[in-house]
Parts: sequence; C-alpha cells; structure tokens
Amino acid sequence: MSTITTDIAIVGSGIAGLTCAHFLSKKGKDVIVLESKSGSGGNIQSVVNESYLLELGPNSFLASSDGIWELIDDLNLNDEVCNSKEGAQNRFIYRDGQCQKLPTSLMEFFTTKLFSFKTKLLILSEPFRTRRGHQDDSVETFFTRRFGKELTNIVISSFISGVYAGNIALLHAKSAFPLFWNFEQKYGSMIRGAFFHMRKLKKQKTKRRKGLWSFKRGLQSLTNAIAAKLGNKILLNTSIKSLEKIDGKFHLGTNNQTIICDHVVLASPPGASSKILAAALPKASKILADIPLAPIAVVHLNTDQIEKIPTGFGMLIPRSENIETLGVLFSSKTFAERAPNGRELLTVFIGGMLNKDLINKSEDEIVEIVKKELETVLLLDRNHLQLDRVTKWKSCIPQLILHHDLKIKDLIEETETIDGLHLCGNYLTGVGLKDAVATAAEVAKRF
Ligand SMILES: Cc1cc2nc3c(=O)[nH]c(=O)nc-3n(C[C@H](O)[C@H](O)[C@H](O)COP(=O)(O)OP(=O)(O)OC[C@H]3O[C@@H](n4cnc5c(N)ncnc54)[C@H](O)[C@@H]3O)c2cc1C
Repeated sequence: MSTITTDIAIVGSGIAGLTCAHFLSKKGKDVIVLESKSGSGGNIQSVVNESYLLELGPNSFLASSDGIWELIDDLNLNDEVCNSKEGAQNRFIYRDGQCQKLPTSLMEFFTTKLFSFKTKLLILSEPFRTRRGHQDDSVETFFTRRFGKELTNIVISSFISGVYAGNIALLHAKSAFPLFWNFEQKYGSMIRGAFFHMRKLKKQKTKRRKGLWSFKRGLQSLTNAIAAKLGNKILLNTSIKSLEKIDGKFHLGTNNQTIICDHVVLASPPGASSKILAAALPKASKILADIPLAPIAVVHLNTDQIEKIPTGFGMLIPRSENIETLGVLFSSKTFAERAPNGRELLTVFIGGMLNKDLINKSEDEIVEIVKKELETVLLLDRNHLQLDRVTKWKSCIPQLILHHDLKIKDLIEETETIDGLHLCGNYLTGVGLKDAVATAAEVAKRF
C-alpha cells in the first residue's frame, strides 16, 4: 500500500475538477487530481471519426460562461475557440407533423402556427398578470401560471427534454430556472424581469459575446489543455473508495494507495461522492444518493441530404408528439469543421427520465428507432443516413427536482462540519458546463 501526500486532493477530472485544480495551481497551491478512468475530461469527449467531429457529451457552452472565458485566456486558447455559424440562433420544434421554427421576431410570433391565438394572448398579457408563485412550484406549474398549458407542453417541455432529459412535472422551477423564478418574485412577471435584466446588461457597456461557443477541434480542446498544464498532477486510473479524517488529515483510500491531504474537493458525480462519504457523513451521502440522474443515448449520424436539414441549431420534439427522439442537433449547421463538404452531421438524443428503459435496448434497436423517426420528423431517406456512433450515458444529467435548493443547503451544511471538505460539480446549482465551472471557481476562491 503506497502513500501520497499533498495539500489539496481533487477527486474527479471532469471540467469541474480540472477547473478547480487549474485555479488552485495558479495560486501556487499544491494539488493532485485523482481520476478513476484512464483519461481526463469526464463527460467532455470529442472524437474524430473519419472526417466527422463527434461530441459524445456536451456540444457547446453559453457566451455568458465567465469562468470558461477565464480558462480560455489562461490557456491561450483564443485561436482555438469558435462561435456558432450564422443562422444557428434558429431553433425548431416538431409539432403537428411539421418541423416549425420558434419565432424570433414579432412578425414570426404573430404568424407562427406553433401555438394558438389564445396562447399568444397569454404571452402578450403576461407582464400584466403579476401573481407570484410558491417556493415549491414545479417547472410545469410555474410556466403554466405564466403562459398557459399549451406553451408549457410544447415549448417548455421540449426545452426540458433538450437540457435535462427531464420531466417538467418533477423539476423544481426555483432550482432549474433560478433567473426566471427570481424575475417573477421581484417584478411579478417573467417578461418584465427579462426586460429590466436586458436593460441593465445594455447599460454595462462591456462588449458581451453572443450565441453558442465551442472549439474548432471540439470541447475536449479545453480539458486537454488544462490537463496538459497540470501534467503529472493528474493521477489516472485512481478510483477513490473512502474518506476519513485522522489526526486532522484526510485519508483517501483507493484499492492500493492512501492519499493524505489537508483539503479534499469532491468533483465527482453525486453517486460517486455519495459512496466516498458513506462512512464519514452518512446524511450528506444520502442526499447525494437521492439526486436522480437521467439516462440518455446519443446517436451520431451523417447524411448527404443537406437540403433537408434546416439552417439552425436543432429541433426539439414535445412528448405529446409520441416520438421517442427527444431532439436532434444540426451539428454541422451549428459549428464549422464538424462534417466534410456535401454532408451534414446530426446528433440525436433519445431516452431521458420519461423513457428510462430505452438505454437498456441494444445499439441496433436504438439506431432503428432513430432512423425511423428521422424519416418522420425531418423527412430524411434512411438509405442516405450513415451511422457514426452510439453513446450510452446510463446516469448522467442531474435532475434538480422539488426542494433541490433546500437539500443542497443541507448538504453544504453537512460537509462544512468537516473542516477542509469541499464540493463542486454540475448537480449543485445547475447542470451545464457553465455551472460546473462556476462551482469549481467558487471553491478555488476559498483558498
Ligand atoms: C450527453 C450530454 C450532453 C450535454 N450537453 C451539454 C451542452 O451542450 N452544454 C453544456 O453546458 N452542458 C452539457 N452537458 C452537461 C455537461 O456535460 C456537464 O455539466 C459537465 O460535463 C459536468 O462536469 P463535472 O466535472 O461536474 O462532472 P463529470 O464530467 O461527470 O466528471 C466527473 C469525473 O469524476 C470521475 N470520478 C467518478 N467517480 C470517481 C472516483 N470514485 N474517484 C475518482 N474519480 C471519479 C469521473 O470518471 C469523471 O471523470 C451535457 C451532458 C451530457 C451527458
């Protein structure tokens, strides 16, 4: 049994763990990152398959991800980063047998057939219906109160499928949409809140980036660059099984090593962190174990039917359409260098909390469903669809369900009872890269 000694041990080398390690190293701290797998980056996996660039996990990050921009500057990656293509702001929803564009102008709003005249009136009158909601509102209750059932079932449920692969009846509005929820609390209306928020941003006069971003050679450029800078401070194939504090020092156990340190940052997913804390903090361990994680399958396909793929980011499919596919990203319409000339790359998401068993089907069965449904929703000819890869994520997207905020408050209070123990990752305040990075940067600031 070998022993390693360090000041700070970070468990997990996903974007959260790597970010935390980077910012701590920048401050001159002694860190080690412990990763159970044979490679770093966690969910971020960019794979080149023939001439296609496949993102097996996340595809893009939001312009407002301040922490990611700081990493990009620190790592001199400004020449590697790429903005989404023109037209990528277009988003589509499949309804009534048609792929329909979400309105982005007043004219499109009045003419769209995506929702009825009654829903349009509900949207227009929202600023004048200044009723405030309840702390326990689900996403479904919150949006139905603001905009009615139709918009909630068509647009919001689709958006929830796209981001959370989740269930609008179970997700907690305050946790999943904190900005919108606060708009309603403060201004009595989401639209009013959004208006004042935008006005404030405009007044700040700082040049703000817009749209979606990635890297020319995929998101893994970011995690690879952080990992390269950390060098031998990352220990791969090192799965942490236990944590105890003995004489003021943490002892982290693997099968054949003990890591002795003053601080531990758990940047592992909630299920893994739960197991690590089982003996030391049973209550925290239970809270972590109870966070549901959605399963999802990602299917990459390419086609030469370029004229049939709309210019835009992608299409979402409301659950009411009885289609199993949750959404399709038009990956090569969104970012350059994803597919060779004359071909398009599609990234299809299927499964989620409302279709949990799908992940247990064979790859062939999943591809069969996807191809059949692409014939329906995009009118593609399956003989012109070529499969690149199927990726199964058995439990990956945290579900911020009812009382998530209170449970996380309890979790933090519990972990604070052990001096030197910290948590970061995408299950605390939000599920995106931006959130994972923000929680990691916040932990690094404590040192
Ligand atoms: C299919 C998919 C699509 C997505 N799309 C987007 C998107 O387009 N934009 C966006 O912003 N977000 C997206 N996300 C979410 C985004 O991927 C996550 O927010 C982010 O990657 C989470 O990073 P993390 O570091 O918190 O966790 P992870 O990436 O899960 O990293 C945790 C690490 O801990 C390691 N680990 C686990 N247990 C142990 C242990 N016992 N000992 C040591 N190490 C351990 C794991 O191997 C892993 O490397 C997507 C997620 C998925 C799955």
